[in-house]
Amino acid sequence: MSVELPKLNYDFKALEPFMDAQTVEIHYTRHHQGYVDKTNAVLEKYPDLQDLDLEELMKKIPILEMEEADKTVLKNNGGGVLAHDLFWDIMGPEKEIDEKLALDLEENFGSVSKFKQIFSEAAKSHFASGWTWLVKGEKGKMQVYSTANHDSPLAKNHEPILVLDVWEHAYYLHYQNRRADYVDNWWNILKLI
Ligand code: MN
Repeated sequence: MSVELPKLNYDFKALEPFMDAQTVEIHYTRHHQGYVDKTNAVLEKYPDLQDLDLEELMKKIPILEMEEADKTVLKNNGGGVLAHDLFWDIMGPEKEIDEKLALDLEENFGSVSKFKQIFSEAAKSHFASGWTWLVKGEKGKMQVYSTANHDSPLAKNHEPILVLDVWEHAYYLHYQNRRADYVDNWWNILKLI
């Protein structure tokens, strides 16, 4: 198995004015590509793991037969690959509303707007680099939380549904330190709700 950079389904400038073209280009072609390359480099050392896909690897890191330092490289870079894969996929210049997701959000949080409020608060208050997630956890119950660095909910066997990158590289060129504005504007380019 070798990990690949997925195709972006829109132009770099398609998410403007909420996410600027230069940020998308650098984020995708350098940051995301970098995580892909580093994941492949560490996995090349372990041919026995080639049969597992990246999601399986992320779930099993603690029990994999790898050197501890390489586990850390895999967690950071493989986690980065999967988080960015999802991040680009759920955004777009046109809304493609997911009715099932809206119903699930109503059931779990009371309303879509209440969910957005909870998620935004988690993203704005997360300290330093990381990601804010909507996941399906135990018994399919939805949860919102943030993780540090590239730590993946898959490590807890939670299924990622939505994710927002709150690393500074995701917004600093356009928003500088105004993460709250980035978060509030993100709902315009999240295509699913
Ligand atoms: Mn990122």
